[in-house]
Amino acid sequence: EVNNLPYKRILVKLSGEALMGQDAFGINRDTIMQIVAQIKTVVDMGVQVAVVIGGGNIFRGMAQSAKGMERATADYMGMLATVMNALALKEAFESIGVKARVQSALSMQQIAETYTRGKAMQYLEEGKVVIFGAGTGNPFFTTDTAAALRGIEMNCDIMLKATNVDGVYTDDPKKNPEAVRYQTVTFDEAIQKNLKVMDATAFALCREQKMNIKVFGIFKDGALKRVVEGEDEGTLVHI
Ligand code: UDP
Repeated sequence: EVNNLPYKRILVKLSGEALMGQDAFGINRDTIMQIVAQIKTVVDMGVQVAVVIGGGNIFRGMAQSAKGMERATADYMGMLATVMNALALKEAFESIGVKARVQSALSMQQIAETYTRGKAMQYLEEGKVVIFGAGTGNPFFTTDTAAALRGIEMNCDIMLKATNVDGVYTDDPKKNPEAVRYQTVTFDEAIQKNLKVMDATAFALCREQKMNIKVFGIFKDGALKRVVEGEDEGTLVHI
């Protein structure tokens, strides 16, 4: 496939909550199908896609540890939740004819391959979507950090943070109608202005490794396609 796009290999970070749709918990069928359809569009354009999926729609370590569970245990449970989402995503991809593989940062051979950088790279080159489950495999981290890490390891051209809002705004656009979207913002500006892009660990890793981040709305029709075409969509956080 010929691909003259600015981004040839991307890492998409999907939060677990993105899979919930209007539901209070778990995975909404229509929502997950909508997400994989958006990603299929760019796969069909020849873009190589890696996905890091969160688990907040099922289990969040921090929330449970606040209720008395040991944080590390709660975090392992959170990582298991991301593997569930990864399996659901894989199936959703395959149901629309997109080849996908799951790699888990924690070994669970019967369910998913264990993460191997070389193998993951090979899948990407073969045009398969690679879904990374179990975050970084370590408690006290988040899937944002896993996304930064895998994006850098896979030599992705950019990390795309899919959210419910279509970018980074001067203020909460749901509360303040005057809020304006930033088209671009540097890492330094984001720190100065205290803009929430990702958690601090993930942000620091991207900044240090010069991995630009694009924050965009996954539920805005055609947004992902415009992002990979380099159009003005969402917010670009750059060095
Ligand atoms: N988690 C972890 N280490 C990681 C990634 C995730 O311990 O490297 C756990 C953590 O408990 C977290 C949960 O998995 O709360 C789900 O991930 P996250 O909250 O990042 O998901 P999202 O908010 O993107 O849905």
